[in-house]
Amino acid sequence: MFLRSLHLRQFRNYRDQAVSFAAPKTILVGDNAQGKSNLLEAVELLATLRSHRSNRDRDLVQQGAEEGSIAARLDRDSGSVDLGLVLRSSGRRTVSLNGQTLKRQVEFLGTMSAVEFSSLDLELVRGGPGHRRQWIDTLLTQLEPVYAHLLQQYTLALRQRNALLKQSSSRTEAAIPLDRAQLAVWDAQLATLGTRVIRRRARAIARIAPFAEFWHRDISGSRESLEIRYAPSVPMEKDDPTLIQQAFLEKIRQRAIAEQVQHTTLVGPHRDEIEFTINHTPARQYGSQGQQRTLVLALKLAELKLIESVVGEPPLLLLDDVLAELDPKRQHKLLDTIQDRFQTLITTTHLDSFDSQWLRSSQVLTVVAGQ
Ligand code: ATP
Ligand code: MG
Repeated sequence: MFLRSLHLRQFRNYRDQAVSFAAPKTILVGDNAQGKSNLLEAVELLATLRSHRSNRDRDLVQQGAEEGSIAARLDRDSGSVDLGLVLRSSGRRTVSLNGQTLKRQVEFLGTMSAVEFSSLDLELVRGGPGHRRQWIDTLLTQLEPVYAHLLQQYTLALRQRNALLKQSSSRTEAAIPLDRAQLAVWDAQLATLGTRVIRRRARAIARIAPFAEFWHRDISGSRESLEIRYAPSVPMEKDDPTLIQQAFLEKIRQRAIAEQVQHTTLVGPHRDEIEFTINHTPARQYGSQGQQRTLVLALKLAELKLIESVVGEPPLLLLDDVLAELDPKRQHKLLDTIQDRFQTLITTTHLDSFDSQWLRSSQVLTVVAGQ
């Protein structure tokens, strides 16, 4: 797929700016705080309806405005599509395809695919489990758009269950006794929805692992072996929804007292972990900087290839400030992989970090103060 053009209105520091893309690679060059990452963020939003930098639309809409928008024309094998996303400070969004407003955001997802790679992604290895859950969730949203809806339902059930547990908190003045009948209703909801989340995550990890392991071997020169393991908070011996649901409810029973003390839900996919081990050693605690970087690069290349194989077309690649951080060997690996097949948008503060091969095949756009 190829992003032909993008039009940003009252989005971050862009008042009204149209951009056309003319080459498989576009380098956005500019000083700090000019709007390079903002442009990539707009593309990320069209692909995933999420931004890894903010989860409040109020931050995305230009300061002082009520409403902002992102529009794009995308060429796919099946023809061109016009995508539209209107963001409001109130949080209400409107999505459209070819000028038709869609009732559900799920219908919009899957139109454009993109893999985002920024220096923040090192947190995927080094940071807490929340980063890894967000990673797999964003990937799943692109592989199976209905997952976004499922995750939303799960989060809602979780929030309501937590609210119930908090109501009975003895620390609050208006403490009321725990409504056990209502809790049982949320338990059942949580187990049903949570089981679906767990099964989809397990499947996604099983799909991406071979790709990541391949790229990791490739970049590290076969010296190291990567293993990715899903560690759901509910034991999952077999991929059988009935058994997982039973195990879920059993685990809730075991943690009942702790939950009433902590006034929060302690069981479910919001507590899952994804473990990366290199040569049987956890990469998070023991990996060197270089090993962690190699791992993140391998994961990103794996995402590209997996999305391509599922969607049937190469996704876009968004490289935010990341190229300069890769050593020449890893830079070449990335360049070799994307060739001109994956349309790539790259941000940088100066062009010297690019070798001539990159510059020859790229369109260079200078970004100054949102223009
Ligand atoms: P760097 O090289 O430092 O990463 P950048 O070019 O990637 O810089 P961006 O993150 O794209 O910078 O843009 C940051 C600029 O956008 C800042 O000046 C910030 O104040 C501005 N900005 C962010 N959100 C909004 C908003 N909602 N309204 C107006 N301006 C905003
Ligand atoms: Mg930036």
